[in-house]
Amino acid sequence: MSELHGVNLTVVKAHNEAVIINLIRRKAPISRYELAELSGLTPATISVIVNRLILQGILGETGTAPSRGGSLGGRRRRYVELVPDSRVGIGLLVSRSGCVGCVVDISGRVHAVLGGSFGDTLAELSEEYLSQQLERELGGLIRYADGHKMTVMGIGIGVPTWYPPHLDWQRMVDSIAPYSVPVTFSNNAVAAALGEWWYGGGEVPLPSLYAFVGGGIGGALITQGGAAGVPDFQPIELGHLGVSVSGEECYCGGRGCLENFVLNSSHSPEMAMDAVAYALRSLTHLFNVRTVTVGGPESHMFHNIDLLRARLQQLHRPEPVTVEPSRIAPEHQALGAGALVFQTILARRISSLPAL
Ligand SMILES: [Zn+2]
Repeated sequence: MSELHGVNLTVVKAHNEAVIINLIRRKAPISRYELAELSGLTPATISVIVNRLILQGILGETGTAPSRGGSLGGRRRRYVELVPDSRVGIGLLVSRSGCVGCVVDISGRVHAVLGGSFGDTLAELSEEYLSQQLERELGGLIRYADGHKMTVMGIGIGVPTWYPPHLDWQRMVDSIAPYSVPVTFSNNAVAAALGEWWYGGGEVPLPSLYAFVGGGIGGALITQGGAAGVPDFQPIELGHLGVSVSGEECYCGGRGCLENFVLNSSHSPEMAMDAVAYALRSLTHLFNVRTVTVGGPESHMFHNIDLLRARLQQLHRPEPVTVEPSRIAPEHQALGAGALVFQTILARRISSLPAL
């Protein structure tokens, strides 16, 4: 990776910081010298970033690495590592069928998990009832962090953006999160894709598509981004891609949407997977997708990943398309919402992450 220079220095700085944190998370304990070698950043830049993170209590120094000069000279280099329990984020991931929450530290360790099914589908819940449910979950997670003397850096909330159509998520989030810590909310598929980037498969060939299955079907497209070359996460309404000209009407205003086809119990699981493959094929051609990840709290609905992989690998693309399940355990899917915290507060903005 080359050091980035450009007009958007805040983005570059945030990107470099996130790269360093991710390297430390994966390779720690690691020396500043090794960080410079692996990241391609200059030793001076590494020092500035590492020292700042040490001052913030996010990194700690531990042990020493042998110096390159051996016993003949050179200062011994100190290892750095994340201070795992120093800062936590609270993540809340809302899907059409339920809500899961977690307390996660910067190293990706999950300290507490809460949540479950709404009992009814989201569309059948009143805004007041839903507010109470989410507020209760957030309260439980915050009490857990307080009880364990953890510093909460922020709250990240992933929501199904425009489902149900009558719900104003911005108002909802404003009403349930009157806490003194920053609150970030985003599309739930974008949050889950971010969690995969931070805590799952890491940096995969781009463009990459994340298929989010959580009652409905959402998606996120991860691209190389703009001049700074940083990843960009955009929501994709995967569930509303048309797969049938004469299909049933959908709440989105369209007809024959993938989501309705998959959820229609008269279609066999094999037919559903064929429809998903059909939609993914279109997106692959449209965006030159190179990797597809299937995740979300109900990713088991996409039961036949092999079929999706086979369909996409049949395509005569310049490069093969890989299809993999999420590496994040289904019970830890709220990690993505927790990653929103570290993305926007610790690493600030790596990309032009949309608010929704
Ligand atoms: Zn639709």
